[in-house]
Amino acid sequence: MGMITELADQFDLSHVESCCLCGKKSTAYWRGEKWIGICRWCAIDDLPKLMADAVVGGGAKIGADLHHACGQFWRAAALSLEIKQRESPPSP
Ligand SMILES: [Zn+2]
Repeated sequence: MGMITELADQFDLSHVESCCLCGKKSTAYWRGEKWIGICRWCAIDDLPKLMADAVVGGGAKIGADLHHACGQFWRAAALSLEIKQRESPPSP
């Protein structure tokens, strides 16, 4: 949880320390209109369900929307891994 720990020194992130869905310790946060924290389990189990409801509710173009979502996920995962490696470089 390095990103939250480091950012806690710059911003008041006390409201994102708990997952906004289950209340357990969050492992990531997102800043939109409001700041939200999310745990790993809710990220992989609940967020995809929310995403599906939002896509369908918004007039889904399932193929195009899924393609876009997958691209966004992998770009974000690569960026997060790069940031994590910068924070904790492998030992020599
Ligand atoms: Zn959770």
